[in-house]
Amino acid sequence: MALVTPSRVRWPAKPSRGSSRRDRRCSKPASSWRNTTASGNWFSNCSASPNRSAIGSCGTPNRKRKELKKNSLEGLLAAEILWDIEALLGRQTLDDLDLEALESAVRRQALRLAARAIEQRLNADHSDGEPSPRVCPCGQLARYAGRREKTFTSALGPLKLERAYYHCAGCGQGFCPRDWQLGLQDTSLSPAVTRMVAAVGAMVSFEEGSQLLQELAGIPVNAKQVERTAEALGAEIATDEKQDVAPSDEQPLPPTLYLGVDGTGVPMRPEELKGRCGKQPDGSAKTREGKLCTVWSAEARDTEDRPVRDPGSVSYTAAIESAATLDTDAVPAAFTQRVLREASRRRFTHAHRTVVMGDGAPWIWKIAQELFPHAIQIVDRFHVKQTLSTLAKAVYGSDSPQAHRWARRRHGELDAGRFPDLLRAVRRHADTCDDARKCFQYLRRNRDRMRYPQFEAQGLCTSTGVVEAGCKVVIGTRLKRAGMHWTIRGSNAIIALRCSRLSGRFQDFWERRADARKAA
Ligand SMILES: [Zn+2]
Repeated sequence: MALVTPSRVRWPAKPSRGSSRRDRRCSKPASSWRNTTASGNWFSNCSASPNRSAIGSCGTPNRKRKELKKNSLEGLLAAEILWDIEALLGRQTLDDLDLEALESAVRRQALRLAARAIEQRLNADHSDGEPSPRVCPCGQLARYAGRREKTFTSALGPLKLERAYYHCAGCGQGFCPRDWQLGLQDTSLSPAVTRMVAAVGAMVSFEEGSQLLQELAGIPVNAKQVERTAEALGAEIATDEKQDVAPSDEQPLPPTLYLGVDGTGVPMRPEELKGRCGKQPDGSAKTREGKLCTVWSAEARDTEDRPVRDPGSVSYTAAIESAATLDTDAVPAAFTQRVLREASRRRFTHAHRTVVMGDGAPWIWKIAQELFPHAIQIVDRFHVKQTLSTLAKAVYGSDSPQAHRWARRRHGELDAGRFPDLLRAVRRHADTCDDARKCFQYLRRNRDRMRYPQFEAQGLCTSTGVVEAGCKVVIGTRLKRAGMHWTIRGSNAIIALRCSRLSGRFQDFWERRADARKAA
């Protein structure tokens, strides 16, 4: 029989002298942390260099234990945890050990002890409460109104903190200066938990995120809280992204930089679609277009010496916003400005050679022409081949071998630069198939952007699928899952959060956020 199972793990009551537990090999320090801390001076004796020798010393003699109690918070915590482990293990052999139950129980207990220690340390410090009034954010004076208790969800479990509270008669609001100091203002989640929520909220549905937090970290944050917190943080990131446009010189500038632009439909709630035309049979819309700008380099070569995307070189920025700038507009469209910001951060125009890549949609080339007139324009070859394969299925039926053959030949013509042959083959179906007519126009309109043999000879990357994949990675995998319907505000927040994390920018944002709080 297993020694402990999750349902059976119970933290033993602290033994009294002479109880059987006292006989255990590693007994508890003479005084429990509860007794010690109750006197309120646990921390005043905290040593800067705790007595590490005390940690892990099962069977510590009484003298040692007394030193421990006196000298070190860390030592006390360690001894407390060790005592509990021994209490759980008892005299059983390791053959019977349920390690998972032990791990979970010890982690819970260790965190609980740490949380109590932090509570006591913070609650003993009353330096945040001066009798003199403080300036309220509204500008008027707020008077000290005693200490208020609030329980926060932390990575260590619940933290019950007492903070000085100030009330402003002018605006009727109250505030706790310490909440600002600790990053706890307007939230019940600690900074570490907020960061965990951002991590799960960026990757999975809010419901799954809530479950993951419980399962992995034992932290109860319900789905609605995950949603609110992740979206609030995403909105902060979106604002930060607009301000943080300084060129990053962390990585050397590669000789060639690629900038890709693409769009993908994001499923929306009906209220976000009122009056909008779309692709539904009745002319209505179910989605709004999320637009993505991605920058990367491709100096690496595959086994056949073709350029491939450099790992870690990709950055993303995206949002549901307009890309249409009218001639009468005083400023460029929101998405055009976004592309400019990304180009600035990545020093795009500083590269010796620049390439703009897209799927062939006219709005993309309009932006490219406007912002980067010297860049080489290339239609992502992956996308052209996909278009030709789709057309083959439309003409010959989706599973027909003829469709396969036809598509393969067209791909070959595209690769070999036999553009007249390709155009002729597509045109042959234009009279009878509307898709073929559109495809013909698409090929003819973009033919200069499909000179693949020439691009290859120049060592350029033409078919990485990076742009297309970017839409899937940034938007599709998180926002286009079954049953999901978004608001513009919510989807843009989560997109901003994902772009920040996927581009390796989250840590920088987090540090800026902490600095801003300290400066406030
Ligand atoms: Zn006020």
